[in-house]
Amino acid sequence: MPVALLRGLARLALEALFPASCIACGRDGELLCPACLDGAPRAAPPRCPVCWQAWPAASRCRDCALAPPTYEAVRSAFVYEGPVREAVHALKFRGVAALAPTMAAPMARLLAAWAPPVDAIVPVPLPWLRERARGYDQARSLATELGRAVGLPVLGGLLSRRWTPPQAGLSARERRRNVADAFRARRRVPGLRLLLVDDVLTTGATLDACARALRDAGAAGVWGLTFAREG
Ligand SMILES: [Zn+2]
Ligand SMILES: [Zn+2]
Repeated sequence: MPVALLRGLARLALEALFPASCIACGRDGELLCPACLDGAPRAAPPRCPVCWQAWPAASRCRDCALAPPTYEAVRSAFVYEGPVREAVHALKFRGVAALAPTMAAPMARLLAAWAPPVDAIVPVPLPWLRERARGYDQARSLATELGRAVGLPVLGGLLSRRWTPPQAGLSARERRRNVADAFRARRRVPGLRLLLVDDVLTTGATLDACARALRDAGAAGVWGLTFAREG
């Protein structure tokens, strides 16, 4: 039996094992109930208008003033804790694909309110070893659902990513160095304004490296949107 088919069957079996009950509160009905998602902590202001880290002033934070990122600005819907963390883990490690539309909906509302001038959506590519091992690409499925919700095209295979050691356990500076040259655009995107989409933002190092690859390929501007962010 082909490996892809086996993976598909395994995913179906997992979704059958975890039928429609809320991953956070266990209530029957939906994989993540509206009450749990509505009650989850938002990544709300006051935050830096560029990198969206908690920051008491309206001006850009010290980090962004010292070393301005390549992307124009990033926003995240939620803080990475509680049911939000559960949802990200379910999507990432259990491949519960049915969660993607639920998770993309608040991202779509945030994007509509924020309204960056973007032409298309680009998912942040997974490290290829993990993508192969798991067979599920959570950033791409969030990007697909978001594109559907807001009517923007999704350039799924635009960025390629070479292997780098995992980011976990590295300092912000090490993370930046680790992924600095990891991304390439597979074609030119002259003049396009692009929205990078990922599940979780940690230090922004990956997002910035992706933005650099897109600018190198001719993009006129790059923004970022994630479901959650740390801190
Ligand atoms: Zn719930
Ligand atoms: Zn900042």
